[in-house]
This record gives sequence, structure tokens and C-alpha cells, in this order.
Amino acid sequence: MRETLVLNATFEPLSTVSLRRAVVLVMQDKAVVEQAHPGLRIRAAAVEVPVPQVIRLCRYVRVPFRQRAAWSRRGVLVRDRHRCAYCGRRATTVDHVLPRSHGGGDTWLNTVASCAEDNHRKADRTPEQAGMRLLTQPFEPTPADALLLHLGLKDREGVPHWLALPA
Ligand SMILES: [Zn+2]
Repeated sequence: MRETLVLNATFEPLSTVSLRRAVVLVMQDKAVVEQAHPGLRIRAAAVEVPVPQVIRLCRYVRVPFRQRAAWSRRGVLVRDRHRCAYCGRRATTVDHVLPRSHGGGDTWLNTVASCAEDNHRKADRTPEQAGMRLLTQPFEPTPADALLLHLGLKDREGVPHWLALPA
């Protein structure tokens, strides 16, 4: 995990920051290290500190509005755990449920992970037109979920076990 996950004082994931920024927040007593990279140390000023993977702010930060999770192809694949929404096999592509040619957009609710075969078969049609059924309905991840998705499931070891990852 190259970025450091920042938790609010209430343990809610807030954002990620660069390692340098994370160290500064800890050195300024604005955050505490919740999880450090095992065995790695970083030299900051005259002291050595653990390389933080997760820090938690000492003071609660009020989030004025919940930013919506930014849509991305990678995000859709990770959200759907690389499972094709039509057949359940491994998905490598993103399908627009309502095709873009029909006005469908790049949104969480209009896109699903799809295997290349099903994506090709469905082509420029709606699932109904193509006679294909969605095994799961697309959903919009919460901003906190999206943040954890962004960090990547393969980097699970960088996320503390007590911090639940989205399914
Ligand atoms: Zn498929």
C-alpha cells in the first residue's frame, strides 16, 4: 500500500495521503499510527518512525457533505469482485447495462463487470433485448467503501482486520 489510509477520530475511513504527509501529521501530534508497515522505518527529522499504513486523526473532522464515490472501470471490476454479472465467471471488461448508444452513462448503477464473451454477445443492446439476465444488481458504493476499494483488495494486508472491507 503506497498511500496511507486516514481514519477519522471515530475510525471512519476519510481519505488517503502520501506517506510524507502521514508522517508529518503524526509528528505534529495530529494523528496516531493505527497500523505500521511491519519492519519498515522512515527517517523524519532526527527521529525514526514506523512507516504508517493507517493513521487516525486525534480530533474528529466533520465532513460537511459526503462526496459521492467517483466512478471508474477499475472500481466497477473491484466492486463486482471481477465476477461477470451475466454468468458469474471471471470478468475483465465493464458492460453498460443501458448501452451508451442508448444514452446510458458511466455510472455505478449502469455498469457491471462482464466477461469479454458476454460483453460481446450483449453488444449494443439492453439485457432484455439480448435475452440476458443480471445475476446481481449494480449498486453505488459508499464513499468509505470506494476508498477501501481504491486501496485495492490485493493490499488487504495493509488494512487492519478490524476495519471491514466492502464485500
Ligand atoms: Zn459472462
